[in-house]
Amino acid sequence: MHTKTTLVINWHLTEACNYSCQYCYAKWDAAPSPRELINDLEQTEALLLELYHFFQPGNLANPLWDQMRWTSVRLNLAGGEPLLHHRRLPHVIRKASRIGFEVSLITNASRLTEKMVAELAPDLVWLGISLDSANDETNRKIGRISGRGALLDVEALAGALDGARAKHPHMKVKINTVVNELNQAEDLSPLITRIVPQKWKILRMLPVVTGALAITDQAFNAFVTRHQRFAGIICAEDNQEMRDSYLMVDPNGRFFQNGQQGTSEGYIYSRPILEAGAAEAFAGISFDPDQFFARYPEQLGGDAK
Ligand code: SF4
Repeated sequence: MHTKTTLVINWHLTEACNYSCQYCYAKWDAAPSPRELINDLEQTEALLLELYHFFQPGNLANPLWDQMRWTSVRLNLAGGEPLLHHRRLPHVIRKASRIGFEVSLITNASRLTEKMVAELAPDLVWLGISLDSANDETNRKIGRISGRGALLDVEALAGALDGARAKHPHMKVKINTVVNELNQAEDLSPLITRIVPQKWKILRMLPVVTGALAITDQAFNAFVTRHQRFAGIICAEDNQEMRDSYLMVDPNGRFFQNGQQGTSEGYIYSRPILEAGAAEAFAGISFDPDQFFARYPEQLGGDAK
């Protein structure tokens, strides 16, 4: 029996993104779809309540409770780019926090203004930022650039984070880096030293849909080894470790999982959670507690993501 960890639910609340990373695991649209659940705040709140009710610690009706124990539930808001919904997001985050979730957000930071960080920080336990390179040309080539040609201003971001963390020290910062053909030789030490994240998640791209910018095992390992001075905060994740280890909800409020690699089936979806109820919808997908615990080892307090 696995015990003492935070159960993490990833809600990909939009498929849209203003960046177009070559390795992106789906082909995102340029603008959010009006059908996304977050456009309806009543439905959004109903989904949050249903998820919390089903996954709250001690719910004997949850089949996972036979295999594992957890003491808190974290809702990780992801995309696409969740801050394309910047008008609704502060309300949704506050609501989720009031319901009982710990809340985290993962963003490409392109719309993370100082004002926005300050507004979100009181209700976030983790703010995750995807950063692959400190080099403008590399970011441009990867596709980490908006349709209007805007690149991330890392110094402005670091300043905004400094201010928010001074006021809300409970909010921890995590950097996500996808190691790919274009940044695999880079030394990100100055960037990490400036931002001082509590976690640095180094991922090898997941070739579900595309093999663009793929790298070898050696290149991935060399990137991790080059940054060993940050070993205390690094969480390195090879793509083999990623199947069935996420609890994921899509923008329309369905659970989903990565399909079988090497087949045409990219994703497998459940019925809509608000239509079927969380229990019946969850029964429609596979989830591997052993993989989950490999991802969130207890020595990291279950907060590795
Ligand atoms: S920022 Fe994230 S969601 Fe947007 S294109 Fe890049 S990988 Fe995809």
